[in-house]
Amino acid sequence: MSNLVGLVGWRGMVGSVLMDRMQAEGDFDLIEPLFFSTSNAGGKAPAQAKNETTLQDAFNIDALKRCEIIISAQGGDYTTEVFPKLRAAGWNGHWIDAASTLRMEKDAVIILDPVNMPVIQKALTSGGKNWIGGNCTVSCMLMGVGALYKAGLVEWMSTQTYQAASGGGAQHMRELLTQYGTLGAEVKALLDDPKSSILEIDRMVVAKQRSLSAAETANFGVPLGGSLIPWIDKDLGIGKGYDDAGWGTSKEEWKGMAETNKILGQGPDFGSTATPVDGFCVRVGAMRCHSQALTFKLKKNVPVADIEAMIAADNPWVQLVPNTREATIRDLTPVAVTGTMTIPVGRVRKLAMGPEYVGGFTVGDQLLWGAAEPLRRMLRILLAR
Ligand code: NAP
Repeated sequence: MSNLVGLVGWRGMVGSVLMDRMQAEGDFDLIEPLFFSTSNAGGKAPAQAKNETTLQDAFNIDALKRCEIIISAQGGDYTTEVFPKLRAAGWNGHWIDAASTLRMEKDAVIILDPVNMPVIQKALTSGGKNWIGGNCTVSCMLMGVGALYKAGLVEWMSTQTYQAASGGGAQHMRELLTQYGTLGAEVKALLDDPKSSILEIDRMVVAKQRSLSAAETANFGVPLGGSLIPWIDKDLGIGKGYDDAGWGTSKEEWKGMAETNKILGQGPDFGSTATPVDGFCVRVGAMRCHSQALTFKLKKNVPVADIEAMIAADNPWVQLVPNTREATIRDLTPVAVTGTMTIPVGRVRKLAMGPEYVGGFTVGDQLLWGAAEPLRRMLRILLAR
């Protein structure tokens, strides 16, 4: 293998985190990187470039064809346009992608190796070439509580998510922060006066939120600062059944069941029954990290201590947070987790519905385990063969 690895989308949000992680883990020592751009072909490649120091045109199929492996964090439109042309031109290399475009294709594996290494190995053995990163919320959830699925304990799971602005990309984060600044500025004088009326502050804030301009809400469509949005991604409409067009689910909610089962290698496509997963996906005013409250119906009554032990032993990144107020508010928040590889799981307790019903809460940096990390780990798996 010549180890020529094409990198597309390396300066975007996922791409920048990917570059940082590849640098930190010494991945560039093992490859000859070839950097591509959709906007600056001919420009200077980043410092990690070795022999190939000029940015290649990311739409040039001949240039892409030179690579044994291509990693794309450029986005779904790019994959939709370029990937079929590349394959049609006879390219037989490995395609590793952060975009959702190819995730549910039969010949694509959703990669999350600490959870589904057997699925990846099986696909490699049978000649698989398309390796797609999973939905960020699903990947972070499985890194946290995958142990319960691996043990075959889950009858069904319901998830209520609290997803950060960064899930939408850089512009969404900027919009949220700008809104917070605007709202703070609106009531600064009243906040500075300890004797001012809280109801007056409240009235002014909501008046400002409701009068934010189209430009101030261009990315989320409505105010997010000081509010929340209980819909993420497309409206799938109301169809006849789950596989038809959803039950009035958002696309983000639909991915929960579809991708969880595909990652685990279960469901009708694998000759088995899918585990039902459903709930509500909500955008909140957090900057980075997706959080989720989980409800499990287990197939049997398992003591909480055993559940906690299984979760804690599953992988080196999961961190069991004791179900106390002190540990929870210290360790189980986006502020605590942002920029770390740790996936804390806490609030594990039996629920009032019965002994098989278990609740938990988990937080994950969706740019790391939810996006960049599985891509670079797949590169390592390919290089190690
Ligand atoms: P992004 O930040 O918008 O970057 C995508 C591309 O936009 C870049 O590669 C760059 O391409 C171009 N771009 C234009 N102006 C830019 C600027 N000022 N700074 C940086 N790049 C700029 O998108 P993303 O959030 O990384 O998402 C990439 C893919 O990953 C998408 O398919 C997304 O669905 C998926 N994903 C995202 C997340 C997440 O949490 N954000 C999680 C999982 C998966 P050129 O250099 O070629 O111009």
